[in-house]
Amino acid sequence: MSRFFSEKYAELEPYVPGEQPKDQQYIKLNTNENAFPPHPSVAKAAAEAAASLHLYPDPECGELRKKLAETLGLKAEELMLTNGSDDMLNFAFMAFCDEHIQAVFPDITYGFYQVFAKLNQVPYREIPLKEDLTVDPAEYRNAAGTIFLANPNAPTGIALSREQIEEILQTNPYNVVVVDEAYVDFGADSCLKLVRKYDNLLVVRTFSKSRSLAGGRLGFGAANPEIIRDLETLRYSTNPYNIDRMTMAAGIACLEHDDYNRKNCETIMKTREAARRSLEKLGFEITDSRTNFLFARHPGIGGEKLYRKLKEKGILVRHFGAERIREYNRITIGTEEQMEALAETIGTILRDGGIQA
Ligand code: PMP
Repeated sequence: MSRFFSEKYAELEPYVPGEQPKDQQYIKLNTNENAFPPHPSVAKAAAEAAASLHLYPDPECGELRKKLAETLGLKAEELMLTNGSDDMLNFAFMAFCDEHIQAVFPDITYGFYQVFAKLNQVPYREIPLKEDLTVDPAEYRNAAGTIFLANPNAPTGIALSREQIEEILQTNPYNVVVVDEAYVDFGADSCLKLVRKYDNLLVVRTFSKSRSLAGGRLGFGAANPEIIRDLETLRYSTNPYNIDRMTMAAGIACLEHDDYNRKNCETIMKTREAARRSLEKLGFEITDSRTNFLFARHPGIGGEKLYRKLKEKGILVRHFGAERIREYNRITIGTEEQMEALAETIGTILRDGGIQA
């Protein structure tokens, strides 16, 4: 830390993104990227947009917002686009939390919530997941704070139903409930349509997972227009050009081929269930994931040990050190071939270690 760094950030521990080692080629199953590249027209659109990079992009994201509104059956004024959904989440912490309005989220969830709370200097309360790693909606009744719920949750992959989210919305009429639907397209209920019914709902979505655009950095929020206007005030006060020309063009092309994206999601869900079966045969216990990853532990080998052994053999998965989940690994669903290679490699690790499958 330099002697100039503001004291208010002295305790800030930044988010640690999934590793991207360059020492060898890895099968990368550690950052929940989509197994498939975007539709070919996406690269073409981005390349064409690059020819105008001497000009600032449209700060209103007019065309993209219109296309997205059409795709989702919402109005443009119910949407705001951001540089990945992390950007949107940060705006939500800025807009709807302060020293009097705490943030409320599960003890095991997306690690960035805690970072954003600290970055924005707001108090937060963590509500423990139940023993089986599910969120108990009853614990969120009258939560007295702005609620952040990843649904499906990460890294557990487990989803609440729309009715359970509605119960939380109804019992917190004086607080904003932020539902982070980063993984919702892989088999969970979306709350997007509920933004017309509940004026305290902000749904946060991303193009990174189900639309294969993690490298483009495109996310958005959906809410009633008043909430969107609050968020726009903050966006225009930080970086009105937060979506660059290439990403904007890529986003439009991506939505024009949404059937391609949907098909890829279906393939990934099928691959997920096949991977689940082969890992269960090897003795793994796996949560009920509605995402593009599995959260798995094995009674015969520790989570960190398995992570290290897999890395030695050229496969990256994500291990978290938190006490309650340290025996687990989060495994992104890759292609069918990658998942077969994973199961085979784990089989070898277990056999070599004399561990019962
Ligand atoms: N929410 C959750 C639950 C996530 O896992 C992630 C991705 N790590 C994000 C939001 C942010 O994704 P992005 O910024 O790529 O949209």
